[in-house]
Amino acid sequence: MKHGYEAMSTFIHGLKPSYLQLKKCSLALLLSTLANDTLAAASPESLAHAVMLRDRAMAGSTAMQIVTSLTTEVGPRLAGSEAEARARDWALALLNEKGFANVRNEPFEMDAWRRHAEGAEILAPFPQPLAVTALGGSVPTAKSGMTAELVLFETLDDLKRARPESVEGRIAYVSHAMQRTQDGSSYGYFNEARTAGPSIAAGKGAVGYLIRSVGTDSHRFPHTGSLRYDADAPRIPALALSNPDADQIERIAAGGERIRIKMNVDSSAVPAAQSGNVIAEIPGRERPDEIVVIGAHLDSWDLGTGAVDDGAGVGITTAAMELIKEAGLAPRRTIRLVLWGAEEVGLLGARAYRERHAASLEQHVMGSESDFGGGRVWKVTADSKTEQGDQLFADIAAVLARIGVAPGSDDLPGGGPDLYPLIAAGVPTLRLHQDGRDYFDLHHTADDTVDKLDAASLDQNVAAFAVFAWLIADSHVSFRGVEASDS
Ligand SMILES: [Zn+2]
Repeated sequence: MKHGYEAMSTFIHGLKPSYLQLKKCSLALLLSTLANDTLAAASPESLAHAVMLRDRAMAGSTAMQIVTSLTTEVGPRLAGSEAEARARDWALALLNEKGFANVRNEPFEMDAWRRHAEGAEILAPFPQPLAVTALGGSVPTAKSGMTAELVLFETLDDLKRARPESVEGRIAYVSHAMQRTQDGSSYGYFNEARTAGPSIAAGKGAVGYLIRSVGTDSHRFPHTGSLRYDADAPRIPALALSNPDADQIERIAAGGERIRIKMNVDSSAVPAAQSGNVIAEIPGRERPDEIVVIGAHLDSWDLGTGAVDDGAGVGITTAAMELIKEAGLAPRRTIRLVLWGAEEVGLLGARAYRERHAASLEQHVMGSESDFGGGRVWKVTADSKTEQGDQLFADIAAVLARIGVAPGSDDLPGGGPDLYPLIAAGVPTLRLHQDGRDYFDLHHTADDTVDKLDAASLDQNVAAFAVFAWLIADSHVSFRGVEASDS
């Protein structure tokens, strides 16, 4: 952006990383330096404290310990399941033990789904088993399974354009192969084959639906994830093939052979299941009603142990809170940790949060979720709409420059899926963009386990969360259209 990050960074890194030491050195000189500097949105004490938090996080945080504990002691935790309830108990115990304020569960009811069994095989022309997994929410097949001929589509658009006669009575297969990017930006596009595809196929008379996993790996762990049935199309069973199995299908089809598939899904719907958002706070010392929200989602898919998605985020944001609390200085505003429930099945926790906290959303100063695995942060962006917000953002970026985080020029709202309902309600967001080149190798698969995470990368994320959460919570700055008064 437009500010002098390098100059500010040099200035900040000249400071001793301790608040007490800072007080002993010439505060007057620092203040006069800052008074001449239009970047002075954060006080020198607050900035020095942020630098100290950053350096402590980089020296080693508790993030890895927390995600290891969650994924070992709870394991997979599907939304609305007994395992997700155990995850809430785990979180409540952990957050109480760490001494946070206002630790609580905010329960909500939801329609849940259970996977019991699944499978698929090629019956003809070359009989063999396939590595598949049911998409989240898939209806079951008959107990004896379902057999039909396959009709292949390279992309979802091809399926959308298909004549119903070519699809009717068949299992529709959509390849729609996802590509690898640093920021995961193609997920939204490829994802539609999973979410919307089953009903598009069913609307043309398909009896079953198969996709190439929405993932970038070449292992045989298929990727699950939610589908979304339309109200006006029949509900058909839907499965994802691993990438090598999708290749196999396409290779056989390329030879001009007709392919007969047998698939089976055993699943059930669980109405009126329980979920909840687990919350903890560091209360603000001046304006406790004004809130900076950080967090991650506590639920995971059922195949792996949900380390990358999203145990990493739970570890990162909880460790950042712990670091701020342990440093002993309360920020002006409240920092609230929210561990959302039932994200994977439609942001249900985030919607419940918005409803429950509707009256205080105006006082939500900033929000950010960690939900893109454990890779290092390389960029920070924020949707600031004020000059003050821009200045404070420049301060944040300057402190983070030392750990390899560059300020981005776009200021579109973002900050993680659980923030979307809050964005719609006007809450500003800040996004720490992580390197996600390997994220879609793992997420929503049985291979999403804690050995894939790197403690030093998690610590760098903790540093970034602690720095921005502290600096924003310790300021008077508003990022919304109206400038905040400096009281
Ligand atoms: Zn996630």
